[in-house]
Amino acid sequence: MSQTVTPYLEMSKAIIDAGGDALKKCYQCGTCTGTCPWTPITHFNIRKLVRYGQLGLDGIEDFMWGCSTCKFCVDRCPRGVELIDVVTAVRNVYSSGGMLPQSLRAFVGSLSARGNPWSGDPEKRNDWAREKYPLYTEDKEYLFWTCCTVCYDPRNIRLARATAEVLNQSDLSWGLPSFEVNCCGESLRKVGDLGLFERLKNKNLDYLNSQSVVKIITVSPHCLVTFKKEYGKDYEVLHFSELIVRLMKEGKLAPKKDFGGLKVTYHDPCYLGRHSGVYDAPRDILKSIPGIDFVEMGRSREQSMCCGGGGGGLWMEKLKGERLSDLRIEEALATGATVLATACPYCITMFEDSVRTLNVDEKIKIKDVTELFLESLDIKIDDSPASDMDFTCKTG
Ligand code: SF4
Ligand code: SF4
Repeated sequence: MSQTVTPYLEMSKAIIDAGGDALKKCYQCGTCTGTCPWTPITHFNIRKLVRYGQLGLDGIEDFMWGCSTCKFCVDRCPRGVELIDVVTAVRNVYSSGGMLPQSLRAFVGSLSARGNPWSGDPEKRNDWAREKYPLYTEDKEYLFWTCCTVCYDPRNIRLARATAEVLNQSDLSWGLPSFEVNCCGESLRKVGDLGLFERLKNKNLDYLNSQSVVKIITVSPHCLVTFKKEYGKDYEVLHFSELIVRLMKEGKLAPKKDFGGLKVTYHDPCYLGRHSGVYDAPRDILKSIPGIDFVEMGRSREQSMCCGGGGGGLWMEKLKGERLSDLRIEEALATGATVLATACPYCITMFEDSVRTLNVDEKIKIKDVTELFLESLDIKIDDSPASDMDFTCKTG
């Protein structure tokens, strides 16, 4: 890695401009690097990235894609540097210059061409629903915003169906978005493609405005944060775990099936925990289910480890020994739990990948709290794949 002042002065200036005051405030104490979960396992160094940005040095691209935007460092920085904004700004400079890592090109290409990161047919976005669930119309109270990952990823389709089934058990009036909507754009924004993010956001806003949407329910904490902070509208947005707790408190839903001592631990998704401050709702759900023996991992709540899937990490290749999700699975196994629950489709994807590669899929299962809650209502999830469906949601 060279540390010379680069001929790319323009790029350096753009990085400094984009980093703005955040870059000026940093006094290089290194707290961020000390708290970053990647530090012990990779050469990614957030303090160095800030330093290179401050000095306009070449070489940032060697480690700038390592951050999974978990927010650990932001919460610890004594100068209040919004490190994720710095990372996003730096990435934006590179992404605008067409310098994306190979593994992110398919992700961005799919978002650009199809509006979702899974190369899914846009018109089949609602195929998972098998026409069983209603589309949103203006007279409905809640829009159930289905993250692309739960619409297209075969594993996470089960989560979409579990959520819709729980909604069907409640007395809420709700509906699914039309297939015309796109990805909310959260990961895209964090990998720095701000232009494409704006395009997707505006298309979604056209739909949301046309339907006069006010209340949104999300299963993905990434969509939750995006609607709360990035769309410039005052939506009432709830993560599904919060809605379940509210329905239980109102006496509208109650778990009944006894799980007979099933040992379950819970992983706090970064975007639900540190980014949104929601720590209790998923735990309250697990603790309300009869016969669940709930155990905490050593690192939990504000201290929770990251799964590595944020900030575009879900779509980036990671070498063996450099996967946070592998470490988290080991922490979950150490509790003696046979189920690792979480509340985010990205975490589910990362952990299921890890249990397979670590060869521990017989020892521990990965479930969303909503899936466990639905089981506790004694309702089974439809497990059939979406791909055998011949219908397209035509009303959309
Ligand atoms: S913790 Fe904050 S002040 Fe310290 S090196 Fe990191 S960004 Fe700079
Ligand atoms: S946001 Fe998380 S992953 Fe990114 S630099 Fe900070 S601590 Fe590391």
